[in-house]
Amino acid sequence: MGTMEGLDVTDCTRCPSLVECRSQIVNGVGPEDADVLFVGEAPGAREDDRGEPFVGRSGSVLDDRLRDKGLSRADVRITNCVRCRPPENRDPTKEELGNCREYLEREIDLVNPDVIVTLGKVPSQHLLDRDVAVTKEAGSIETVELGGTKRDVLVCLHPAATLYDRSQESTFESTLDKAATMAGANGGQSNLGDF
Ligand code: URA
Repeated sequence: MGTMEGLDVTDCTRCPSLVECRSQIVNGVGPEDADVLFVGEAPGAREDDRGEPFVGRSGSVLDDRLRDKGLSRADVRITNCVRCRPPENRDPTKEELGNCREYLEREIDLVNPDVIVTLGKVPSQHLLDRDVAVTKEAGSIETVELGGTKRDVLVCLHPAATLYDRSQESTFESTLDKAATMAGANGGQSNLGDF
């Protein structure tokens, strides 16, 4: 049903319509001991093509904002709730989110980040297990139990939201600043340098 090697899912056929649509499974990228773990919704066309999360327009926004803080994507870990591209970029269904949950929880467990940053509504609702009004709640932190461990989840706008509404850019930036403050907070030094 699903095979993992380390943090990577190498084979999975749990979601028939995603298996049909995907060209490959898109696993998380970045250090396996990252302080900050960004969690998006699901791969889009570019991600499905390249086999890497957030490499399309949203990814450029994320890269740009990280660069503003003196960082690159190599300093953080980036993954998605669902690892296969949904047809026509529809939202993943509850069932698909559930099918992929085990892989996400395992990634969270092994990376053991200081903060999980949820990029947009779908990952925020998935991890907080409640309705989330992301524009209102962006920048707020909630501690939830994930896979048996308490985790700090920081609600963040989806990077694409700043493309549709420029006034959201400062909210996105201040949420990243908050993530930086939380990085390294759980003992040990941050591996984010000056972030
Ligand atoms: N949006 C997401 O939620 N994830 C990606 O990987 C790309 C865009």
